[in-house]
Formats: sequence, C-alpha cells, structure tokens
Amino acid sequence: MTTIRLFNTATRSKTDFAPLDPDNVRMYVCGPTVYDRAHIGNARPVIVFDILFRLLRHVHGAENVTYVRNFTDVDDKINARAAESGRSIGEITAETTQWYLDDMGALGSLQPTHMPRATAYIAQMVEMIGVLIDKGHAYEAEGHVLFAVDSWRADYGKLSGRSVDDMIAGARVEVAPYKRNPMDFVLWKPSDADLPGWDSPWGRGRPGWHIECSAMAHELLGETFDIHGGGNDLLFPHHENEIAQSRCAHPEGGFARVWMHNEMLQVEGRKMSKSLGNFFTVHDLLEQGVPGEVIRFVFLQTHYRKPMDWTAQKAREAEAVLRKWRALSEGVSPADAPVASVLEALADDLNTAGAIAELHGLVAEGKAAELLASAQLLGLLTPEMGAWADVSALDLDAHAERLEEARMAAMDNRDFTEVDRLKALYMAAGLEVRMSKSGVELVPGPGFDAKKLEAL
Ligand SMILES: [Zn+2]
Repeated sequence: MTTIRLFNTATRSKTDFAPLDPDNVRMYVCGPTVYDRAHIGNARPVIVFDILFRLLRHVHGAENVTYVRNFTDVDDKINARAAESGRSIGEITAETTQWYLDDMGALGSLQPTHMPRATAYIAQMVEMIGVLIDKGHAYEAEGHVLFAVDSWRADYGKLSGRSVDDMIAGARVEVAPYKRNPMDFVLWKPSDADLPGWDSPWGRGRPGWHIECSAMAHELLGETFDIHGGGNDLLFPHHENEIAQSRCAHPEGGFARVWMHNEMLQVEGRKMSKSLGNFFTVHDLLEQGVPGEVIRFVFLQTHYRKPMDWTAQKAREAEAVLRKWRALSEGVSPADAPVASVLEALADDLNTAGAIAELHGLVAEGKAAELLASAQLLGLLTPEMGAWADVSALDLDAHAERLEEARMAAMDNRDFTEVDRLKALYMAAGLEVRMSKSGVELVPGPGFDAKKLEAL
C-alpha cells in the first residue's frame, strides 16, 4: 500500500500517515460562512483538500474515507447582509450555499461526505458549552459564555506556537470588561429580538464561531479523528480555540491528530483586495470564460504550503496544456491505475506540482491511457470537466478543408489572397494553422476563442 506522508502543523514535521481506523479515515475541513460568493482565494483549501480526499480514497478505498466540511450559516456578517438587503437570513444562506456548491463543483471538487450546517447542530453546541462550564473551562458573564483560557494555559497556543502572555501583549482588540483574561473567547452570546437566537441555559442567544466546528466534528467524527484542515489564516485563533474547546470537553480524546494548513493566494503578485481592484470571485472567472478545469490546473501547479500567485498568463498557459492533453487522450480509455510516479508525488505531502511534472513526462512519451488515469486522480481530464475543450462540435475539419481547397485553387491561379485571408481569420480566432504537403490542420492554441470561429 502507498504510504502517505503529510506535514503536520502541530509537530512541524512531515511524517507517515497512519489512520486510526483504516476502514474509516476521518477528515474535517473548515468550510465557508455563507453570505456572499466565494472569492478565488476561498477555492484554495477546497482544491487542496479535495486532492487529499481523492488520494485517501484511492489508497484506503472510497467507502472508507469520511470527509466533513461545514457551512457556517449563523454569523454576524450574515445578519448584517440580511439587514442591509432586507432579505431573510434563510434566503441568503440557502442561496449562497448553492452558489458555493455550484462554483466549487465547477472546479472539479468532489462533495464531502457530510456538509453540516451549523444551525442544525445548536443542541450539540449548547451541550458542549454546558460540559465546559461544568469542568471549569468556561464561565457565564452578562449573558455571554466565555472560554477561560487560564484553565488551559499550558496548552493554549501550542498549535500556532504562541504563549498566552505574548498573545495578550500583542492583542490590539478592545477587551470586554466581563472577560477574566483578555484572550478568553466567546462560546455563546445573547441575541436581541431582531437577531437569530436559540433558547439555552444562559438565555436566548447564538453560538460563537469556534464552538461550531468543535461540536460538528465531535458529532460526525468522534472525539479523535485523523486530519483537520483549513487555510493558515485559521490557525490562530480559530483552530487554537477549536483544540481548547474539544480537548477540554473531551479530555479522553485527542481531537485531530494531523493539522494541515494551506498558504494564501495572491493575484498578479499582490495581495488580493477590493481597493487594489484585483479582487474577484470564482464565479467571475467562470463567467469570463475561464474553464473550471483551467482554474484547478493553475492551483495545482503550486504546492499547498507555498503562497500561490494567480495570474492571467498562468491561466492562458494552463488552457493550452489542457487542450493538448485532451487532444492526445481523446477517444482513449484510461489505464487501470495511475502511474506510480504520480501517486508517489501526491503521497509526498500532496506534491501536486511534482505530479503535474510527471504528467508532462507521460505526454512526452505519448502514453495517453496512463495520462488519463493519472490526471483523473487529480480531478483533471475527467469527462465531466471537458465540455469547454470539446471543439469537435465546431467542425475544425470542415474549416481545414475549406482552407485546403483555397490553397489548391491558389496553387493553380497563383493568387494567394483568399488563403491569406482565411489564415488570418483562423489565427485571430486563436487557431494554430499547420500547412504541409499532406494537408491543412487547425489546432486550438492558447487564446482559442470558439465564438470567433463559429462566426466564420
Ligand atoms: Zn473550523
């Protein structure tokens, strides 16, 4: 069996991955807060952990892997969006959840085994908060329930490598007067009549964000599970707080054994921001005609623990590569299994860039069946992702024939005006025009635009 090696943020080392139960490999990844379209950076953890999900399924069997990714559907950002738009919270979260599933599906990501919505697990959160209070790890103050960091001081900060004292010194947040320690964080907060709220022993209120993941992970994966993932922007405080809650409520369990964090994404070499004008959503890109498969390919070219730069140039190059690969593998049945070198690259802490280099090698050797089977392990070259590259419907052969006839005529009458005119049109549509003694061939190039060709 392939040995998977993963970099564990908790130990800061890459170690062999051995699941607690090979018949039920369990992974939790923090999901989105649903109030708006997912931006391009939000897609990174989705694609990264989709690759891990596929790899785990390949190695341990598809039916032996449980992947949980939540939807945060109770949050002050959602409340604010409802208030400013005049729409109901339920309407906004339902619509945004579907957008997310559609956009991430367009990137070729498999749906996780479970996609719990936070509001369906309020009872479990209330129960866990009650346990934390009983064990002396949380306290009630002015309608709030707070986690008492001092009750777990020795371990708080271990994942992110910070000490409580340093955190307090570095904290610039306004500290609520009812907090015993400035680092104490909210488990439950009171809701006014106009805000969503649930009855609890501490009055009508709503959960803090961190407790959601602890409660849902416990309910769906148990006290101890294999892998917890997310972006490195969640390392502190979110994941630190998840650990504190879960391990204090269930000290006999270890919570997640392996912690994995993906690096952030930039756009054209700069941090993405609305003020710089380089902020866009996955949906924006898809609408502009960048195929989901191309977006996925660009992401996979950078290792998940390195900062990634999205550029339009990379997207153009990826499109050209995928067109070539799809042309090579058209009508070919995939080999029985991915080649060992691609599997080994992925098993080495998800070295997707290395796996793609191996795929290029298969292309160079003309091994189309192996290419297909191996690329499909990465969610590339699958039939469902290929509609964008289906140029057969455009009848390139008919266009090539038209050019060939014009060329034959030109040979006779020595007038190449029509040939040059057609050539220029095809090239403007992004086609590479190959003329040889055996005939004319039209091959879609990097800037191929099917709409321009249809108009010809
Ligand atoms: Zn989380």
